Amino acid sequence: MAEAKHSAPASNGHAYTFIDHTFDVVVVGAGGAGLRAALGASEGGLKTACISKVFPTRSHTVAAQGGISAALGNMGEDDWRFHMYDTVKGSDWLGDQDAIEYLVRNAPAAVYELEHFGVPFSRTEAGKIYQRPFGGMTTNFGKGIAQRTCAAADRTGHAILHTLYGQSLRHSCEFFIEYFALDLIMEDGACRGVVALSMEDGTLHRFRAAKTILATGGYGRAYFSATSAHTCTGDGGGMVLRAGLPLQDMEFVQFHPTGIYGAGCLITEGARGEGGYLTNSEGERFMERYAPSAKDLASRDVVSRAMTMEIREGRGVGKANDHIHLHLDHLDPALLHERLPGISESAKIFAGVDLTKEPIPVLPTVHYNMGGIPTNYHGEVLTKVGGDPDSVVPGLMAVGEAACVSVHGANRLGSNSLTDLVVFGRAAALRAIETVQPGEKQPEFSNEAGAAAIARFDRLRYADGATPTAALRLRMQKVMQSNCAVFRTGEVLDEGHALIHDVWRDAGDIRVSDRSLIWNSDLIETLEFENLIVQAVATMDSAQNRQESRGAHAREDFPNRDDVNWMKHSLAFVDTEQKTVTLEDRPVHTYTMSNDIAYIEPKARVY
Ligand SMILES: Cc1cc2nc3c(=O)[nH]c(=O)nc-3n(C[C@H](O)[C@H](O)[C@H](O)COP(=O)(O)OP(=O)(O)OC[C@H]3O[C@@H](n4cnc5c(N)ncnc54)[C@H](O)[C@@H]3O)c2cc1C
Repeated sequence: MAEAKHSAPASNGHAYTFIDHTFDVVVVGAGGAGLRAALGASEGGLKTACISKVFPTRSHTVAAQGGISAALGNMGEDDWRFHMYDTVKGSDWLGDQDAIEYLVRNAPAAVYELEHFGVPFSRTEAGKIYQRPFGGMTTNFGKGIAQRTCAAADRTGHAILHTLYGQSLRHSCEFFIEYFALDLIMEDGACRGVVALSMEDGTLHRFRAAKTILATGGYGRAYFSATSAHTCTGDGGGMVLRAGLPLQDMEFVQFHPTGIYGAGCLITEGARGEGGYLTNSEGERFMERYAPSAKDLASRDVVSRAMTMEIREGRGVGKANDHIHLHLDHLDPALLHERLPGISESAKIFAGVDLTKEPIPVLPTVHYNMGGIPTNYHGEVLTKVGGDPDSVVPGLMAVGEAACVSVHGANRLGSNSLTDLVVFGRAAALRAIETVQPGEKQPEFSNEAGAAAIARFDRLRYADGATPTAALRLRMQKVMQSNCAVFRTGEVLDEGHALIHDVWRDAGDIRVSDRSLIWNSDLIETLEFENLIVQAVATMDSAQNRQESRGAHAREDFPNRDDVNWMKHSLAFVDTEQKTVTLEDRPVHTYTMSNDIAYIEPKARVY
């Protein structure tokens, strides 16, 4: 409910009015992470708002295909310790092991909770939740192949998102749908809430909250070819940088081995989990050479690099020898129909291929951002103050792909993200319930609260430079795609640094043609571009800085992992006024959460 109207400070002579709201908790984002957090907070008696720029069930989580990992042991032996080992190893020892323990220990309960909420999981003959093998998921500390990924056919995200939305409506959570969050309201280093625009009627809103939880998803659209939705523009990350807070481990961008060639749409790793395999132009199953034991189910960084090597060495398929084939044509059509109906459709629509008869043309495509807003495993946002790398930013939390609680470290294992969403969405809600009294009195906003957001908003609304947003966005996406991709060298990154900083500088000359406030997609895309470009810059600069190869960050000039000098998180602070980046670091947590498992010492990765 709107509470009061307040004139916002005029900007450039343009007057704006704020509609003010007060909640205990405001969640920005209604994907899997945001909905789980909002549901938990409202169930716990906190007055909760959930703001989303798209209708909740259109969030990118809806596109998740393969499944959600949890050591249930429904299809053979499993244990959370095996899951922990795989996740630490997958992270290439950049993950925080206390957070990883929290993730894997809570994963089974999180999946059962989803089941009880009503997620229609696929079933075994015995009626248990069906679980498929996924890359990097093993038993007995790397010895066997685990079946750990719980699936609802190849539409797991769809099933989870719709179920969570339904559940969140049972509680008193208030939704602000098609509201675009512009900026955080920060006072004395603490977050006091957020400013948002209602895209439908052009009204501006100040949300005051004891806790603001950012669950705004990834920023895949900084790249030209991405499996993520066009809405994945990392708005939360942009807001955090503008608030003077850092983003963490931005150089780690995951390429999924099997984006459909040309279109970029995803073919789930579950396809290889069900027996699919990759071939080069010689018809060779080349993964046997790169990863003799895990083969096609090696982790994503390994498979993406192997594919890129094959193409570079002239063994790509197609006229231009520039992609790879994924075979499912040897599998029983009945199994494909039952387990992978969604991708059968995608292959037909986007590649014109009947996958029961022909291979699918695929190429590594940007898929996931391991980096993001640093948090502890309660979802509290961290920054570095006075030498303390783990100091909590009062009032601010982050969950899901927007966050970097650092369970995925340098490389996320497939199916660990959906688990991350629900486990840490719940954790953030629990922390909010623990630390906020329902209805607790919050200080009034000062008149200046939200002024910076309005000034920026007004500047972009009336931007009358020479370059349309779409042109700048395309330049940024091309630079990221060619200069910050699967393989990196100092030279390519130095060039990328110069090019991306040029785009950033040229953003000062941006043009927005539509000045209206209602359904102004030109303005919204410009706001999104502003969020993307600062994260593109942070990604490039962090990649240029890290002189080693770890997980998804593969440098040809520094081919080895260097635990002595680089087993640390990168922190990027971006001064959006001066257009400068300052890089710092944070130690990796080399301890676990409990005494039930010891710290897993770094080892060379053998596949
Ligand atoms: C095609 C595809 C398939 C995948 N398959 C799997 C899989 O099988 N298993 C797995 O574990 N992971 C998978 N992943 C990864 C996983 O799905 C994502 O990491 C995860 O869904 C992200 O969820 P989220 O809740 O953090 O954000 P999202 O689902 O992206 O939601 C972001 C939310 O934030 C809101 N928002 C953003 N900006 C603003 C703003 N400025 N104002 C207001 N609201 C805003 C949006 O409206 C949206 O509701 C897949 C990813 C893709 C792209």
